[in-house]
Amino acid sequence: MISIHISELSGSINDKSTGAIIEFEGKRQSIHFSRVKLKFGYRVFFSCPLCGKNCERLFLEKGFYRCIHCCSVNPYKGIKNTTKGGDDYIAYKMQRFAVKCGIGQFDFPFDYSKHPKPKGKHLDRWEKNLAIMQCLENMRTQSIFYKKIWKLKVIQSVEQGKNRFLDYPLWKLKDNLYMIEKGL
Ligand SMILES: [Zn+2]
Repeated sequence: MISIHISELSGSINDKSTGAIIEFEGKRQSIHFSRVKLKFGYRVFFSCPLCGKNCERLFLEKGFYRCIHCCSVNPYKGIKNTTKGGDDYIAYKMQRFAVKCGIGQFDFPFDYSKHPKPKGKHLDRWEKNLAIMQCLENMRTQSIFYKKIWKLKVIQSVEQGKNRFLDYPLWKLKDNLYMIEKGL
């Protein structure tokens, strides 16, 4: 998950700064600062654009920076408080995988066609990673609509690139729901 810490802006914050404009992926978002008085001086925080709470770190989710409490998936809380094999669990796995393989930030529902291969990445590997993400999205959708809870070994078979459905064309994985457990 892409994030920004207030310390990354320290060089450009002075006594009069009230906020900053963050540029990312061709977009701009303006963020306000808040100041908390200390015994000597003050400390600068981000003011979350959604809830207004003071925070040191903002996370990019759905094309918008927000505090940890305003994120749908908490990257620190991780998978502890979610049903294993359910939609939140799969969403978390997808975010982890996307960071690991270089896809980075994405919007739910995941759509492979929004992630063309960047320069320098191997095409076969990139498409395999997209297939893993699209397959997980397929499973997440089924969890949302049918309350399906997936066996962990089925999720693992996809994450590890071993499930036979990963050989399906990407558009098929996007447009149809499959019984992924049959691909073990
Ligand atoms: Zn917030």
